[in-house]
Amino acid sequence: MDCLFCAIATGRIPSAELYQDDRVFAFLDINPLAAGHTLIVPKAHAARLESAAPSDAAALMAAAQRLLPVLAAETGAPDFTLAFNNGPAAGQEVQHLHLHVVPRRTGDGAGPIHHLWKAGPRKPGTEELHDLAIRVQSRLEGRPLPRSL
Ligand code: AMP
Ligand code: ZN
Repeated sequence: MDCLFCAIATGRIPSAELYQDDRVFAFLDINPLAAGHTLIVPKAHAARLESAAPSDAAALMAAAQRLLPVLAAETGAPDFTLAFNNGPAAGQEVQHLHLHVVPRRTGDGAGPIHHLWKAGPRKPGTEELHDLAIRVQSRLEGRPLPRSL
């Protein structure tokens, strides 16, 4: 398969490697949002979070836990935004799961992820949220929907 991050994780395409183990590979983003912007990918190809093996998803997070204090020490940034652009509508351009680890500093101007909606989010009503919660619970547990929904 012709996948950029598979090629990087196997060393066929060079990268600024930071870390690897049996399951994951971490490297510096070529077009960083901040110094130390890191991508962590599973070695086994998966397009997005829900198609990865749970053990690979766990390994991704474990690698992030190892890298965060080291990146903080080396970049001087105390905090981080961790993000998946999970699918094309969410802005995913490389269709191989990757966790963005972006070093953050007070006053860096980027704000929280809530700023993704510059005009402010559409606020769903309380009833809409309640109905959604019931429908999600029912689907997760394989229960039929209550008659009112
Ligand atoms: P996304 O929009 O979430 O799919 O992010 C893809 C990321 O991959 C972007 O931040 C790119 O800068 C980064 N990227 C693309 N090609 C490379 C590469 N060859 N080495 C490192 N990072 C890359
Ligand atoms: Zn891949």
